[in-house]
Amino acid sequence: MNFMASIKDPEKKDEPSWWFVFRKDELLMKQEDEEISLPQLKDLSEIGIKPLRVQYLGVLDEKNCYSAEISADADESLEGMSFRGLRSLLGVIDDELFGLAGRAFQVMDWDRSHQYCGRCGTRTETKEGERAKVCPNCGLVSYPRLSPAIIVAVVKNGKILLAHSGRFKTKLYSVLAGFVETGETFEECVQREVKEEVNIEVKNIRYFGSQPWPFPNSVMIGFTAEYAGGEIKVDGQEILEADWFGIDKLPEMLPGKWSIARKLIDWFIQSQNKKN
Ligand SMILES: [Zn+2]
Repeated sequence: MNFMASIKDPEKKDEPSWWFVFRKDELLMKQEDEEISLPQLKDLSEIGIKPLRVQYLGVLDEKNCYSAEISADADESLEGMSFRGLRSLLGVIDDELFGLAGRAFQVMDWDRSHQYCGRCGTRTETKEGERAKVCPNCGLVSYPRLSPAIIVAVVKNGKILLAHSGRFKTKLYSVLAGFVETGETFEECVQREVKEEVNIEVKNIRYFGSQPWPFPNSVMIGFTAEYAGGEIKVDGQEILEADWFGIDKLPEMLPGKWSIARKLIDWFIQSQNKKN
């Protein structure tokens, strides 16, 4: 898949386009037997949908892509189609297509949340040449918002620090994560989060990779780090249990393959296998 982001709608409608249609936070998907796919349409009127707003996203494999929002109370029952929670599509549809759905969601969510200026309350206008809204009264420019969060694999003597959070519905264990605060570097955030959540100090913080996380507008920035001091003491709020795990005794439930959390855990497993 090859995606080129753009804000300039070519308005060429003779070929079908990819449509990311959201009702509240759910995405419209086509369903044929067990197979789910993204609808390809020349226009939403083809299936009788009247969108509240539409945003152009760019070109995916020579097809235009749009995100659209329909009314939250729209009772659309469309034959062979259904609305699905975005998160439920993780690992179900192709990773790249999911990435694009996440992008579509964030653009739609930003669009619906910035209809009025956050400073003076005037109706905003689309800014020329940029994915931005501008207030015609006070000039405030609003871009799609991103809330960065760090995620970190801490290693001590061939063991990885994994924790169980009260947010997890199952007995899942994962690496630690948390939102970056205003004025903080990513490295400071890594140190603060690990200290706050499990009372551990870390050193040798190294960048690992990143993953957009559209729930609703985050991006995960992954790091690896080494243990520097402290005994595990969970905060009892965010984290309920935490421990050091060797590769021979990893928890049964780990995050899904598509997640950066799992990629960090897999990195640890590979690094230990290389040593042995
Ligand atoms: Zn304003």
